Amino acid sequence: MTSDTLLETPGNLFVVAAPSGAGKSSLVKALLELDSHLSVSVSHTTRAPRGQEQDGREYWFISAPTFQDMVDRGEFLEWAEVHGNRYGTSRKGIESRLQAGEDIVLEIDYQGALQIKRLFPHAILIFILPPSWQELEQRLRRRGEDQPEVIAQRMVNAREEVAQARHFDFVIINALFETALFDLKTVVHSQRLKYAAQLRARSGVFQALDLA
Ligand code: 5GP
Repeated sequence: MTSDTLLETPGNLFVVAAPSGAGKSSLVKALLELDSHLSVSVSHTTRAPRGQEQDGREYWFISAPTFQDMVDRGEFLEWAEVHGNRYGTSRKGIESRLQAGEDIVLEIDYQGALQIKRLFPHAILIFILPPSWQELEQRLRRRGEDQPEVIAQRMVNAREEVAQARHFDFVIINALFETALFDLKTVVHSQRLKYAAQLRARSGVFQALDLA
């Protein structure tokens, strides 16, 4: 499929990025529970599984050479190196699901998000911001997953990531979880109601009304 045909898909593509600790995963998880028309794409990664993570659920866990083979064969819609590991969104599935009218959410880093926007200008890029640097650091500490030096590195990376928010279509400040979730639902819903999105998704109605 070319980027031209990607423009025509009836499904919407949402991309959510954030620095680690901003609450992106919890927000996307809650959104998916509320919205049965939305599904998430499972990425491939070269990093090892953490805790209870399962192959094919959180990620497809693959070796560095296998990842490189997929890059060489052009199997990724986008890929990037994040915190020393490689992550990628495979083309397979996404394009056919969008063609079938499904809405998809990608939970990826800002580099991947910007690649997707170039390939698919209709994609809706949403950036989740923490309310302050202090709050972000406290959340990373409270999570208790990382050593202090890892937290310090994540804070350095967060400054670089947050600087990219200006390239996104929407910004949600996650001060209060329920408010941020409402904002996220509103963005998704508004996107579905845009003229071009309705025309792509409901072409039959537009034809019946002599609008297409
Ligand atoms: P983690 O290792 O903590 O699960 O993820 C690290 C970062 O990689 C997060 O910002 C996550 O959103 C991002 N990420 C996950 N999957 C992909 C992907 O397919 N492509 C890109 N570009 N980033 C990803």
